[in-house]
Amino acid sequence: MKMSLGKMIYEGKAKKVYQWTEDKNKVFLEFKDSLTAFNAQKKGSFENKGSINRDIAVLIFQYLKSKGIPSHFIERIEDRGMLVQQVEIIPFEVVVRNWLAGSTAKKLGIPEGKVLKKPLVEFYLKNDELADPFVSEDQMLMLELTTPSEITRLKELALQINQQLIQLFDQMNLTLVDFKVEFGKNHQGEILLADEITPDCCRLWDKTTQEKFDKDRFRRDLGSVKESYTEVLNRMKKIVGGQS
Ligand code: UDP
Repeated sequence: MKMSLGKMIYEGKAKKVYQWTEDKNKVFLEFKDSLTAFNAQKKGSFENKGSINRDIAVLIFQYLKSKGIPSHFIERIEDRGMLVQQVEIIPFEVVVRNWLAGSTAKKLGIPEGKVLKKPLVEFYLKNDELADPFVSEDQMLMLELTTPSEITRLKELALQINQQLIQLFDQMNLTLVDFKVEFGKNHQGEILLADEITPDCCRLWDKTTQEKFDKDRFRRDLGSVKESYTEVLNRMKKIVGGQS
């Protein structure tokens, strides 16, 4: 497998992307041990984070695939890698909220932890220099980076992913408060779930204790970051660990 590993083409905050020499329509993702918050102003890491998050992402992609959600995932590769379809990332982060938390609760003057009557879907422009600003659908069209039918598809997929993940995390005694996903287009023009879904980009609260099991432990200096991510993986393995 390592034979096919080509040169690194991109390094992000939590992953490196490599060419896959035997097939130009595939790329290799390597999950790093680092984690960042507040547009990378806060930096940290913990041992095995890359491998824990890779395992969580693989189980989630496999679960979503079994539920009919198209994604870039192809296969898990030791020791912290994942083979995926090469996609062109659609430059909007798609956030789905089931409960209000974090900066949005603060911005709207609502206490963290308000359950929403129906899920909210929001778009943020992927632009580190601008700190990923919120964009309205009209602004997305004004930027000429997408089309009305693509926006409809992104919302539809994001809400389907939300419904499936709510059920998965519910079985793990976790509330899916909110999450961020990214989508890409493969060489055939299909829109696929891309990037990753891990505790780095979800808020997960224990249903019994309300304890946080996600990156807010790092953002807010709550401690036990590694233990929390490991607990998410262990609970997930009990529910979907048997799939391959
Ligand atoms: N999120 C993310 N990357 C970002 C922004 C948000 O993964 O660049 C995730 C975040 O972990 C949370 C959800 O998206 O699960 C909603 O985040 P929010 O907009 O509330 O931002 P925050 O409160 O973290 O500023």
